[in-house]
Amino acid sequence: MPVESTMELPGKGLIDRFNRRLNYLRLSITDRCNLRCTYCVPDVFFPKLPHAEILRYEEILRIVKIAVRLGISKVRVTGGEPLVRKGVYAFLKALGGIEGLEDISLTTNGVLLAEKIERILDAGIHRINVSLDTLNRNKYEKITGFDRFDAVWRGIRSALEAGFYPIKLNVVVIRGLNEDELIDFARLSMKEPFFIRFIEYMPMGTHCMNIRQQLLAPEILHTLEKMGPLEPILRNKNDGPAERYRFAGAAGEIGLIRPISHHFCHDCNRLRLTASGRLRVCLLSSVQEDLKGPMRSGASDADIGRIMAQAVLRKPHEHGLGCMKNCDVLDPMSAIGG
Ligand code: SAM
Repeated sequence: MPVESTMELPGKGLIDRFNRRLNYLRLSITDRCNLRCTYCVPDVFFPKLPHAEILRYEEILRIVKIAVRLGISKVRVTGGEPLVRKGVYAFLKALGGIEGLEDISLTTNGVLLAEKIERILDAGIHRINVSLDTLNRNKYEKITGFDRFDAVWRGIRSALEAGFYPIKLNVVVIRGLNEDELIDFARLSMKEPFFIRFIEYMPMGTHCMNIRQQLLAPEILHTLEKMGPLEPILRNKNDGPAERYRFAGAAGEIGLIRPISHHFCHDCNRLRLTASGRLRVCLLSSVQEDLKGPMRSGASDADIGRIMAQAVLRKPHEHGLGCMKNCDVLDPMSAIGG
């Protein structure tokens, strides 16, 4: 039986050796996905987690409650594809009921968004990121393995109509795949209130992308500026790592997420909980601590809190991933949640 105690948790909260206070937890609630994006899903056999090895919702909620007592105030639900997991809406609602959690958001591929938008809203989620690497239907199928482009657009439109704000569109930029669409996405930001976020591709896991296909932010900016000057936007506390820009008169924004060309490790405030119940302290390092095992063996909240605080002390100063340099993380992004 788990001991849900009010026993004392580590006093200082989650502060690492470099004085970074960690207040943001990303929850990968499943390793399953309804797409097979070429740059994300492994090209070698990577077994799915057996059901018993996936954290149950009540276990995730317990970890989040402990994390909140340790200073986590912001949570993002991701996956795999979070919307494929049964019971996700009740889970999102329960998450919304956790006192002290100030910000809950969702990252999805958007395939199931249109049919579920009311329930997501009802669960109290207003901020959403949709991954969409192309505006071309045929290319979408080539990248993801499925003809779901129209479904995703329906989802994005219904999110807009339902009043979600902001709606961020995540575009991983890959040479030879979608670099020719930078201007099309930029034009979309002129007409529609989307936040288009260009993300540098991170070579991790094993898949069919070639490291030479990495295309970094300076080149992205150079291409975008052919459309006109980009005005920088002042960042606010909820911005995360994106550099924000806008074209004059645009309805939306452009964001650049540059884990390679200008990494943001110095003020990284993130932890990740995998679907298998491991706490990862850096996306691009294999350092992780098992929370599921101790929890299922009866660890108290204080024990779990201590494990979390100790894991945080192993957070690296910065990741070693550089331009044209693979990282040693073999777990695919689909297993960690991005
Ligand atoms: N299924 C959801 C989705 O598609 O948004 C959530 C999980 S997905 C792993 C989270 C994000 O990671 C997506 O925006 C995806 O494009 C991004 N991603 C996956 N592999 C990546 C890589 N190697 N480099 C950069 N971003 C990556």
